[in-house]
Amino acid sequence: MTDTAVFRPGLLAGQVAVITGGGTGIGFGIAELLAQLGAHVVLASRKPAHLDPAVEKIRNAGGSASAVAVDVRDADRVKTMVDSVQSEHGRIDILVNNAAGNFYAPSETLSANAWKSVIEIDLYGTFFCSQAVAPIMRQSGGGRIINISMTLHYRGWPQMAHATAAKAGIDALTRTLAMEWAPHGIRVNAIAPGPIPTEGVRKAFTPPPNSEGVVDLFAEERAMSAYAKRAIPLGRWGSPADIANMVAFLVSPAGDWITGSIMVVDGGEWLSRGQSN
Ligand code: NAP
Repeated sequence: MTDTAVFRPGLLAGQVAVITGGGTGIGFGIAELLAQLGAHVVLASRKPAHLDPAVEKIRNAGGSASAVAVDVRDADRVKTMVDSVQSEHGRIDILVNNAAGNFYAPSETLSANAWKSVIEIDLYGTFFCSQAVAPIMRQSGGGRIINISMTLHYRGWPQMAHATAAKAGIDALTRTLAMEWAPHGIRVNAIAPGPIPTEGVRKAFTPPPNSEGVVDLFAEERAMSAYAKRAIPLGRWGSPADIANMVAFLVSPAGDWITGSIMVVDGGEWLSRGQSN
């Protein structure tokens, strides 16, 4: 739960925000904060097992939330999802393109399917969702799109060819759509998070089970804490709230003159990478 004290209560009252991948990790943190600030949040992803508990949690905290099932790789299903949100709520003010697929894989043996899948979720999904909401935002005089990128493609990141290529494309898309849609009042920005220990990221730091099948969780904590000390100048891992705060700033009136920007929120990690690794 984010400390919303820096944002005015009711800042986003009456607004509707669609957050892809909003049921888990960073997307859920973003949904939680936008709902706390008064927006109705629509969580959009494939699995009810991710969406339903997330909606319930936001409602239990007093927020307004709903879920729609969608696979962002499929342009027709994305259009149907966006149309259904529009017909139910009458508007879409904010889109957060957060859904992504990520896993480490050596490029030499990365299957065509795995490559295609990540490019389609990250890059195609971002484009399809943006394209589907644009006419709705345009008709209502404007809107805000936030794309969740990363920093790993700034210098390259072994075994992440698919994700780094997709996110580089998302950065380019952010700038191009910002230019193209500025005359319609649609602001398009991106956020490049540093390491946030969501479930998927933690797995990379989890040691294999010992001979009795027990995982040493202290070893995981030690590995994570060592990484923070070694590689993150601000000395700690990020949280979904760190990213959510930047989303809230960008979609608020404080961001009114910001478009086509890629905001790095990473504790200084990518700048220090050359020195720390
Ligand atoms: P996560 O918890 O694994 O979230 C990914 C989300 O995407 C899930 O909710 C998943 O929901 C959804 N998704 C996957 N495939 C989809 C599809 N085909 N259609 C619709 N939704 C789909 O990951 P995370 O760590 O929070 O990452 C969120 C974003 O931050 C991603 O864009 C990631 O690249 C970026 N990022 C994360 C970090 C980090 O350290 N965690 C760092 C830099 C950037 P379903 O399974 O229900 O579809």
